[in-house]
Amino acid sequence: MLSEIKVIDKKFELLINEKEIKKVVKKIANQINRDYKNEEVIFIPILNGAFIFAADLIRHIKIKNKITFLKLQSYIGERSSGKVRKLIGLTEDIKNKKVIVIEDIVDTGETLVKLLELLKKYEPAEIKVVTLLLKTENYIKKQKIDYIGFKVPSRYIVGYGLDYSGYARNLSSIYIEKL
Ligand code: 5GP
Repeated sequence: MLSEIKVIDKKFELLINEKEIKKVVKKIANQINRDYKNEEVIFIPILNGAFIFAADLIRHIKIKNKITFLKLQSYIGERSSGKVRKLIGLTEDIKNKKVIVIEDIVDTGETLVKLLELLKKYEPAEIKVVTLLLKTENYIKKQKIDYIGFKVPSRYIVGYGLDYSGYARNLSSIYIEKL
């Protein structure tokens, strides 16, 4: 495992290694198994970033479940605020179902709050949120995050599904931009 990597023009250093990630992913899965004992859930991983975390997490899940991936479409430049989003790919009927959204990283929480707002229109019985990473210093929303893997500093992160300009998603460990 490399302690320092370069992706395009930026240097990153090791923040969380593969072993630590595995341990925390298993811990979260066990919490979900306990909290939803004898229940059924629909997992909704958010693409692209959450694909690796979701794949590892759900292999530890023992409760009855379905998985349906979602992508957020961004329309850049339609409003002065920047991005208006829409959900793409919701093929599963979530009405009256218990839903767990799987995110890779929550920064300010803007994306998450918008996403939940859009998902609520499909009238699920309940929505909970799991994120592998949370940038606590930047998180400004009241929205509760039910399961958090790691609290991380507010610097750019890559690896384990997270990209920089599309690259570095394949890395098994998590890296943070060097100061
Ligand atoms: P928020 O809306 O919470 O500010 O930002 C959330 C989204 O921004 C994430 O879903 C992710 O796509 C992107 N993001 C935020 N911080 C990082 C980071 O450190 N690394 C990467 N690769 N993406 C990030």
